[in-house]
This record gives sequence, C-alpha cells and structure tokens, in this order.
Amino acid sequence: HAKAAGGNCQVMFEDEMYQQIQQRFAMENALAKAVALNQLSLHYQPQLTDTGRVVGVEALLRWHCPELGMVSPAEFIPLAEETGLIEDIGFWVLHQACQQLQQWQADPLLAAVTMSVNISARQFYLPEFVSIVQQCIEQYQFAPQHLMLELTESLILADLEDAVARMQQIKQLGVKFSMDDFGTGYSSLSYLSRLPFDEVKIDQYFVRSGSSGQPRDWVIVDAIVGIANTYGMKLVAEGVETAAQQALLRQSGCRCYQGYLYAKPAPAADTEHWIRQYLQQQTTS
Ligand code: C2E
Ligand code: MG
Ligand code: MG
Ligand code: MG
Repeated sequence: HAKAAGGNCQVMFEDEMYQQIQQRFAMENALAKAVALNQLSLHYQPQLTDTGRVVGVEALLRWHCPELGMVSPAEFIPLAEETGLIEDIGFWVLHQACQQLQQWQADPLLAAVTMSVNISARQFYLPEFVSIVQQCIEQYQFAPQHLMLELTESLILADLEDAVARMQQIKQLGVKFSMDDFGTGYSSLSYLSRLPFDEVKIDQYFVRSGSSGQPRDWVIVDAIVGIANTYGMKLVAEGVETAAQQALLRQSGCRCYQGYLYAKPAPAADTEHWIRQYLQQQTTS
C-alpha cells in the first residue's frame, strides 16, 4: 500500500511539474510575440511633492495577452529577463516612454515632469545600451535631464565597477538615475554614497510596515532619508496608500510620494488628464 501511495505521489508531483513547465512555455511563447502583436502598453503613475507639484511619472509596463489575460509585470519581467526577451521589450519600453516624454515636454503644464523608466539588468549590461539611450535622446529631442532610469540594487551589485562606469557614461548624456526598491537588498545602506544616483526610492515594504506599527523598520526609513539628504539625492516614497503613511513619511523628511493615495498607474491620456485636474485644484484651493 505504502509503495502504491508513494508511487501516486510521485505521479502527482511529476504531473504538477509538467503543468508548470507547460504554462511557462506557453507564456514564453506568447511573450515572444507580444511586441510584434502590439500587446504591450505603458501606464504612468504620478509622483507628487507635499507642496502639490507633480515632479514626475513612472512608466509601468502592461501586457494584455488574449490567451492569458492581463499578466502582471512581476510575473513576466523575470521570465523576459531569463529568456532574453527583455532586450526587445526593454527597447520598446524606452522608445515608448521617450516618445511620451517628448509630447509632454511640448506642453507648458507638463514640461517639468520627469519620466522614470525601469531598466532590468540584462538590458542595462547590453554592450549597446549607452548608444540606445543616446539614440532615444536624438530621436525624440527631449531635455535629457527629464529622463530618469530606475535601477535596482541587485543589478548594481552584479558588477559594481561596470555598473558605475556605464552610469557615468549615460550621465554624461544628461540622463539621471534612480535607485529603485532601496533598502530591500542585502547590502549596507552606506554604500549608496559611493554610487552616482540622483534619486532614491524608498520601497513600499517600509512605507507599509511603518504604518502597521513596526518602528524598527521606520528607523531604516529615517536612515535612508538621512543618506539621501546628506548626498543631495532626491527621495521618492513608493506605494503610499494612506494619509497616515504620507504623514509619517513627511515627518521623517520625505517630501515626494508615489502611490494609490494619489493616483494609480493609468494610460497616458488618463494620467495626463489626472495631472491637469490635480494642478488646477492646487491653484484654485
Ligand atoms: P517597481 O518599479 O518598484 O514599481 C512600483 C510597483 O508598485 C508597480 O507595480 C506599481 O503599480 C505598484 N504601486 C504603485 N503604487 C502602489 C500602491 O500605493 N500600493 C501598491 N500595493 N502598489 C503600488 P507593477 O506595475 O505591477 O510593476 C511591478 C514591477 O515590475 C515594478 O516594480 C518593476 O520592477 C517591474 N516593471 C514594471 N514595468 C517595467 C518595465 O517597463 N521594465 C522593467 N524592466 N521592469 C518593469
Ligand atoms: Mg520602479
Ligand atoms: Mg520600486
Ligand atoms: Mg519593485
């Protein structure tokens, strides 16, 4: 009996594994065609200051697959990284975001808005990445200091020296860098001072735990704010969902926020409309 049962378990396990592999394969195949079939789009989420200015938007990738429905970037970006598809997808994202930036730069109300774009490791370490960025600036004719590339800690740590060298090259074009999800990695906070970042994003993990009564993590927020201020880096808190979280962040010295409290990521036209209305309210109230 025991042997039979064990055998069944084995079969079930293999069945499940097989299914997972099949699902992954199906997603990979679908993703490979996503760019060509026009299934990708960008949503934009505003970043605001406590004085009511809109300083930037983050471009966030969306994939609507007819067979699989809406797939979260948290799911398909890692797959795109592993398979190399991120090279084409990342190229598409950068061009799309830069084209949008060009349009917004022509509008006096939106001209000050920075465009933040997430860059993944495989894309960043491409030999031609610097020239891809340069080509975007030439093609879309925006002021390069309004483009902000978001990198993560793990990307930087993969090859610290190469990463910094690349960042310096791209910074010479005028483009800015933001450290995304800061504080979630394994490195010490202080090494940030040795990296040429213009901005730090406090990960939503800290924003969330701060309001649910975990003062230990709030100490880290204070430390991040301190480092950013000391080294003259901009600071953005992401995932701000409640007024209480915003108030705590403000108390710690963080004056720029991104989150559902203000606006969810939305298509360009909707975000543009939202920003107009928001700025109008600011001037009339
Ligand atoms: P991220 O860069 O840290 O982006 C912030 C994530 O937090 C986004 O999730 C955003 O929708 C979500 N968010 C914003 N405000 C709130 C809030 O108040 N509450 C909560 N619960 N969530 C909030 P999203 O759009 O699902 O993206 C997930 C991750 O996928 C991103 O994290 C980024 O790492 C990656 N990603 C998205 N678009 C791209 C892209 O174009 N290229 C690359 N390489 N990665 C991307
Ligand atoms: Mg980001
Ligand atoms: Mg983030
Ligand atoms: Mg993240």
